[in-house]
Amino acid sequence: MERTLVLIKPDGIQRGLVGEVTKRLERKGLKLVGMKMMHLEDAIILEHYAHLVDKPFFEGMKQFMQSTPVIAQCWEGVEAVDAVRIIVGITKAREADAGSIRGDLSMGFQCNVVHASDNTDNAKREVERFFKEGELYDYDKTEYMHVYSDDEK
Ligand code: ADP
Repeated sequence: MERTLVLIKPDGIQRGLVGEVTKRLERKGLKLVGMKMMHLEDAIILEHYAHLVDKPFFEGMKQFMQSTPVIAQCWEGVEAVDAVRIIVGITKAREADAGSIRGDLSMGFQCNVVHASDNTDNAKREVERFFKEGELYDYDKTEYMHVYSDDEK
């Protein structure tokens, strides 16, 4: 099983899309193992978006990410990192596939509703960045017998 990080960004909170985003990930069969609301301090943004600090849009994006608290979620599942990225869609939301969260719910480049980890190494780092020990939960998901066959788990 993999774990991956999803952030519901300020536009998702302001537009009342928390339930919609969460519902889509839940209905896929993913398991929610952690969730919290948080204000993003400078340090966590600089670390999380370190690959973008030199981009001209970085300062505006940082202000946007601090304009409203975000919701951090950790989702678990077989090959969950790729599965969530497919559900989320590409960065430029107005070109994202219909059926994806970004494709169905947003039009922006900056305002694209959610962040999702893009590979397994980053997912591990990002989950550790946003969740402390004790904030993630192990429990049996009783519907798994109807989500995966035994040899897939
Ligand atoms: P993703 O969120 O799809 O993994 P990136 O890591 O490349 O994409 O970018 C992080 C976030 O920075 C994007 O989700 C988006 O909010 C913002 N961003 C990326 N590129 C641009 C851009 N050209 N203009 C404005 N915002 C951008």
